[in-house]
Amino acid sequence: MPADQYFALIVPACSLLLGSALIACWTAMREQRYLLWIAAGYIVPAFPLAAQSLMGNAQLADWAVLAGAFYLAGAWAISRGMADRYGGRAHPGLAAGIAAVTLALLYYFSQVLDQLWLRMLILNAGMFGIQVLPVRSILRVAAFSHRLERWLWGSYLLLIAYTLIRAMVVAALLPAAHMDELTRSGWWVLMLAANMVISLGYLLILLACTVRETLQTLRNERDRDALTGLLNRRSFVESAQQRLRGPKSPGWALLVCDVDHFKAVNDAWGHAAGDQVLHTVGQTLQQQVREDDLVARFGGEEFVVLLRCADMSVAASVAERMRRQLSHTHCSAIAGAVTASFGVAWVACFQDLAQALERADALLYQAKKSGRNQVVCDGQALS
Ligand code: GH3
Ligand code: MG
Ligand code: MG
Repeated sequence: MPADQYFALIVPACSLLLGSALIACWTAMREQRYLLWIAAGYIVPAFPLAAQSLMGNAQLADWAVLAGAFYLAGAWAISRGMADRYGGRAHPGLAAGIAAVTLALLYYFSQVLDQLWLRMLILNAGMFGIQVLPVRSILRVAAFSHRLERWLWGSYLLLIAYTLIRAMVVAALLPAAHMDELTRSGWWVLMLAANMVISLGYLLILLACTVRETLQTLRNERDRDALTGLLNRRSFVESAQQRLRGPKSPGWALLVCDVDHFKAVNDAWGHAAGDQVLHTVGQTLQQQVREDDLVARFGGEEFVVLLRCADMSVAASVAERMRRQLSHTHCSAIAGAVTASFGVAWVACFQDLAQALERADALLYQAKKSGRNQVVCDGQALS
């Protein structure tokens, strides 16, 4: 057997390894099940590819239908993986129909009339048909908001376009004399190499997207309060310090808000109802501020807001609006509304954040002592 035939085995071997690498990634990110489908899309076709690289023309015809089934299954797996990733549809019924027609034609052009180049065209057209199935539905639902996502989508389109183009190029360019010895030709190796480069590019971008998504989920879990979706104490302090260090703003106010008699809510309606109330309170506070203000749940039934505003009177009116809105917001879990007390302090600079928190807390305590459901502002800052 010529040495270059062993060389051709590099491509299926790489395909097998890449598929295995995807499975290894899936073991660490099990909720990303589409990785398994795409892994299958690399592993399944590796076997016929390896076998065909070692076959002569006569054997290629004998095994054409079985090899075709493997290739089509691989194409379907990638198509299903992409559909799953983006929430599109892979149309399994249509895919099965395309596969059945393709296999029937492969049977005819291998067992009845041995036409290698027609088999190549038919098989690649079938794979193209299957891989193109989810494109429309994905385009309808996917936003591709990040650059990596756009690259992934572009590389998938390139992958499926190449399926069609390679068949046409080889059929058009390969001299008829070489067609019988296709798998021994330089064209075959070149085609496989190009296929590998495109597949590798697609897979690396896919892995980068998966890692980015996983990191984003972890960052979100680290920075957000699970119950309300607001920032937690750690990320609030970090973001607040960044903002206070950032470009000059007219000023900053810090609001501390604590739900009144929340223990009684829990006691009367249960902890689950209490959780729903906290969720509603969080949403209500968030609705009262602009997008670049920070709202956090500091723990228990205490919330903190960093407000970019011109002076203390603006902050006082925002806090008052929050207080009023809360007292009018119906929480279905307790068949009524809760009230909250507010302390509002002025933050001069980022070194001042801890002090401002202490000051706002003391003002909140005053609000509680004075009967609750009220806003107490830093008098020094007001004057
Ligand atoms: P005050 O008006 O003085 O603030 O009284 P309060 O009852 O709101 O304050 P207190 O500190 O006595 O009670 C707070 C309660 O909040 C006690 C605790 O069980 C409850 N709590 C803390 N975290 C959670 C939570 O995540 N979910 C629920 N449902 N309750 C919580
Ligand atoms: Mg309370
Ligand atoms: Mg409290």
